[in-house]
Amino acid sequence: IASTEVQQHPSVVTIGSLTIGGGTIGVIAGPCSVEGEEQILETARQVKKGGATALRGGAFKPRTSPYSFQGLKEEGLRLLALAREETGLAIVTEVMTPSNVELVASYADVLQIGARNMQNYDLLAEVGKQPKPVLLKRGPSATMEEFLLAAEYILDQGNKQVLLCERGIRTFESHTRFTLPLASVPYLRQHTHLPIVIDPSHGTGKASLVAPMARAAVAVGCDGLIVEVHPSPEEAWSDGAQTLTPTAFEQMVAECSKVAEAVGMKI
Ligand code: PEP
Ligand code: MN
Repeated sequence: IASTEVQQHPSVVTIGSLTIGGGTIGVIAGPCSVEGEEQILETARQVKKGGATALRGGAFKPRTSPYSFQGLKEEGLRLLALAREETGLAIVTEVMTPSNVELVASYADVLQIGARNMQNYDLLAEVGKQPKPVLLKRGPSATMEEFLLAAEYILDQGNKQVLLCERGIRTFESHTRFTLPLASVPYLRQHTHLPIVIDPSHGTGKASLVAPMARAAVAVGCDGLIVEVHPSPEEAWSDGAQTLTPTAFEQMVAECSKVAEAVGMKI
């Protein structure tokens, strides 16, 4: 269903403030985790000012260690909805289990499937049965074929609004948290009509590398960016090292807009 042999024209996903695809680059920004009312509202205002078209924030967090902060759960979802009410930004947030799909979908505009869950087929089928768009992250060890077949699990249930997100893969290299293969963008463009999103935050793990990789992602033709932003990254409860300040984010969007213009796209 995802193949360019089935559909030649690019799929465009529009929900609330967010449009991704067909020449418009969606910019999804916000903290790794929702930490509280003031933090998420302040971030939402700042990223909107900086040029974001949607707000991200994890309420259910898939953490490497069970002893790390696991998210505010439903309270986090409520706070995201509050931020949408105030700013008008569409909400992107992760759902980790099939049993929580209905709950998360009742608050979110876009359901995120985390990298660790890319091959959780029951979860993919469940988000495929509901109408909200799905942002599917590539598993850190998944091949492109596995990634595209994971998308098929969602599409096959009737949900055609799938965004493919390259967020970096596991390699021998350790100077970055993951290795961000930007060849994924033109490769996927040739093989699928689905919009392609790049996550330079998880893809690099380092705040100083996020803007350069975002510019490069736009240059190779991505349809969207998802970027971690926090009012004080050094105080973030998760992923602070790869998180931009609102000022750095605004600068990044301004730079990306120029690159977008050069390749015939707009932000
Ligand atoms: C996230 O977006 O904060 C996240 C956990 O991403 P990933 O699933 O790509 O690790
Ligand atoms: Mn994160």
